[in-house]
Amino acid sequence: MGAKLVIGNWKMNGRLAANEQLLRAMLAMPAIARSGAGIAAPAAYIAQIAALCEGSGIQVCAQDVSRFAADGAYTGEVSASMLADLGCRYVLIGHSERRQYFAEAGACLVDKLQAALDAGMVPVFCVGETLAEREAGEYLSVIFSQLEVLRGFAGRELVVAYEPVWAIGTGKVANIEQISEIHAEIKKWLLQTLGGTDNIRVLYGGSVKADNAEVIMAVPGVDGALVGGASLDASTFELICQTV
Ligand code: PEP
Repeated sequence: MGAKLVIGNWKMNGRLAANEQLLRAMLAMPAIARSGAGIAAPAAYIAQIAALCEGSGIQVCAQDVSRFAADGAYTGEVSASMLADLGCRYVLIGHSERRQYFAEAGACLVDKLQAALDAGMVPVFCVGETLAEREAGEYLSVIFSQLEVLRGFAGRELVVAYEPVWAIGTGKVANIEQISEIHAEIKKWLLQTLGGTDNIRVLYGGSVKADNAEVIMAVPGVDGALVGGASLDASTFELICQTV
């Protein structure tokens, strides 16, 4: 797959005025738009972010999507076609915080992937083991079982984000050997199961910051980064985007 991709996940942060200030600062930093970076904004602010980013090269990403594709009686849900209508190019699916707090797994995630693809968006499917699973030596089987959700999606443009749960928001980064092992294993699984990886990028996520991004980005098999906390600061996000 072509160029490396950086997506900033703002999580449940922001307000109208603060978003505008942050995004205007990012728009004034050409390296961010030039890299084709995405911003994953809270659903409430996607329209605002899409309007500010229009024509800039910065892509809009949603943080989640309903598993229900058709309009109807699903109070509180936001459908894939609504997100696409607002201008989203990417959508995070199965982020560890959604797995942890909303018990997302299996069939629910298959439905979300299908809905996103049918609406013309590129899913960013997140996988990763907990610290207990890593320490028990179960991390590969955990990641392979999470990847099973992708089995029916051969030939589709996808992004997979490897995010060890113990590295998200903790300041603990997986080391180079850990990242390169998992990315190689994910790519092997994708090749064997989906028959190719040409249209699939595999990102690393977990405490990516300005001072470690260059080293992480250079690890073989790393096609970009999913960035949480560091995407809430324009200068830091710019430095990360400069490494792609
Ligand atoms: C994330 O939210 O996906 C993430 C990787 O967060 P952080 O960069 O803050 O660890």
